[in-house]
Amino acid sequence: MGLKKALSAWIERFGPSYQGLKGRCLMSLRPWRDIERRRSRQIMVGSVPVGGDAPISVQTMTNTPTEDAKATLKQIEAVAEAGADIVRVSCPDEPSTKALHEICAQSPIPVVADIHFHFKRGIEAAKAGAACLRINPGNIGKAERVREVIQAAKDHGCSMRIGVNGGSLEKHLLEKYGEPCPEAMVESALGHAQILQDNDFHDFKISVKASDVFLTVAAYQQLAEAIDCPLHLGITEAGGARIGSVKTAIGMGSLLWAGIGDTIRVSLSADPVEEVKVGFDILKSLNLRHRGVNVISCPSCARQGFDVIKTVEILEEKLAHITTPMSLSVIGCVVNGPGEARETDIGFTGGGAESGMVYLAGVPDHKLHNDDMIAHLVTLVEQKAAEIDAARAEKAGEATKAPPLDKSGKKGFEAA
Ligand code: SF4
Repeated sequence: MGLKKALSAWIERFGPSYQGLKGRCLMSLRPWRDIERRRSRQIMVGSVPVGGDAPISVQTMTNTPTEDAKATLKQIEAVAEAGADIVRVSCPDEPSTKALHEICAQSPIPVVADIHFHFKRGIEAAKAGAACLRINPGNIGKAERVREVIQAAKDHGCSMRIGVNGGSLEKHLLEKYGEPCPEAMVESALGHAQILQDNDFHDFKISVKASDVFLTVAAYQQLAEAIDCPLHLGITEAGGARIGSVKTAIGMGSLLWAGIGDTIRVSLSADPVEEVKVGFDILKSLNLRHRGVNVISCPSCARQGFDVIKTVEILEEKLAHITTPMSLSVIGCVVNGPGEARETDIGFTGGGAESGMVYLAGVPDHKLHNDDMIAHLVTLVEQKAAEIDAARAEKAGEATKAPPLDKSGKKGFEAA
């Protein structure tokens, strides 16, 4: 088929269904951006809902010695500042669970206690105020011990996470399947889940992580079909900051794109703050959740009217304190600048004589000299963020006065 014919056939097939901005009567303005999330039941990790229609939460893990409560709390504050909703803390021994009392009492976000085998650590962590226990009931041993841990979780309002790892599968499953594979991981997860359900415990989520992207994705796909509990996503031992972020974005990104996943942890051999930032960047890229300034910038080339790379680097640093979701385009020249600016809250396009054009809400607004660009853009972004926050607060005030009611009379859910 010639190109002309192919184009006519394409227009005939897709043209009428895509109405872009004109199609305001459609359910979705841009259906090619829609992600239909898998319906999972909701559990609570402390004050954070996980699953159902709750926003996808971002978590990370501390790497300080847990017994050093001061150092651990300092790191928790840093990750919370970066946007983490939940933090996990290892509890390998008794001094760790002792320190957990102070950590849980002072942490600004819910704490998940990471317990591997020892049932006593699980009970101690629940008593210390952990919001969730990461524990595999099948690894605890005797049924009586399992019951004790579950009872402690029930008594102290803890949820649980079953964490299956491709690198530490049960011996009988490795013998049955010959190697770590999706079926073995799902069978392991469902086995642990069965133990919890047999003990009338249902507030759990599951992860089936592996360092191999293919294995992880296939395991989560199968698990998502098999059970309705919330899923905690991650590519484990993904590597250093760069390769780990890429692997995670591919694996976790494809699952999230398919609607699978209720809470995420990016595992990097890097600062936990970095994990949180990468987690948000993945969610931002899929339009699943927004936090802070989404900077759209070009790679730069000989046409650039200013040093795009340096400018973006400085701007990202100077705008790191903004948590309000908004967008800023910083484009080197008029080839792509006006088009990108049309889609962002604030835009700057270079290309004039040592100057460029500032766009507000997509419309050219004023000229700006390159020397004043950074300070001026930072001020504009701060003003816009304050404006968005004020509008949000006003809307929330109105909502408090007249709460929206659904058909059952309950207050409607507002997603982040
Ligand atoms: S927008 Fe302009 S400066 Fe940036 S990469 Fe494209 S052509 Fe080059």
